[in-house]
Amino acid sequence: MSTPSWDDSYTGERPPPWDIGHPQLAFIRLAEQGMLSGNVLDSGCGTGEHALLAASHGAESVTGIDASPTAIGRARAKAAERGLTARFETGDVLHLDRLGTRFDTITDSGVFHVFSDEDRPHYVTSLATALKPGGSLYLMCFSEREPGDMGPRRVRQDELRSAFSDGWTIDSITADSFETTREFFSGHAQAWLASIRRS
Ligand code: SAH
Repeated sequence: MSTPSWDDSYTGERPPPWDIGHPQLAFIRLAEQGMLSGNVLDSGCGTGEHALLAASHGAESVTGIDASPTAIGRARAKAAERGLTARFETGDVLHLDRLGTRFDTITDSGVFHVFSDEDRPHYVTSLATALKPGGSLYLMCFSEREPGDMGPRRVRQDELRSAFSDGWTIDSITADSFETTREFFSGHAQAWLASIRRS
C-alpha cells in the first residue's frame, strides 16, 4: 500500500480536486468509441466513475482497485445506486499481479503522475503484468503545459515515451484536460491522454 494519506483525501468535508462526480470527458469519448471493452481494470479508480463508465458501455467485466478504503466504499455504493455491476477492491496498483488475472483494457485517470521516479518503473511493470498482450492502456496524466507546481507532478511526453518504451507500442499521445472541482486550476488542468498497447 502506498501511504495512508490517500484515504485522508476522501474523508474531508469536500471531495478531493479530481473527484468531480462524473467521468473525465476524455474517457467518455473513449467509451463512446467502444474502446473500454472486454475485461476492464480501472487502476487507482477512486470513487469509481471510470470503472462505472466502462460498465455502462458494454464492458464484459469491470474491476476497480484503489488504495483508499473510503473511495472504494463510495464506488461500491455508486454501483449499487446505478444498478451497475463492477468489482471494487482496496489494493496496491504497484502490485497488480496480486489480482491473479489479466485484462483486455486498463484505464488510468490521474494515477501515473502520482508516482515518484523510483516507483514509476514498478508501476509500468505492474500494468504490464495485468494487461493481456495486445491489450490497451488509456492513461491521462498532468502535463508540463499546466503552469505552476500546485497539485500533482507534471509529466512530459518524452517521459511517457521512455516509461513505455520496452514491450509497449504508443499509438497516440494527445493534449487533453482534466476537469477538477471548481476551486482548483480554474476548473481545468492541462493533461496528456495516451493510448498505449502492450506488445
Ligand atoms: N482515477 C480516479 C482517482 C485519481 S487520484 C479519478 O479519476 O477520480 C489518484 C488515485 O490513486 C487516488 O484515488 C489514490 O487513492 C490512488 N492511489 C495512489 N497510489 C496508489 C497505489 N499505490 N495503489 C492503489 N491506489 C493508489
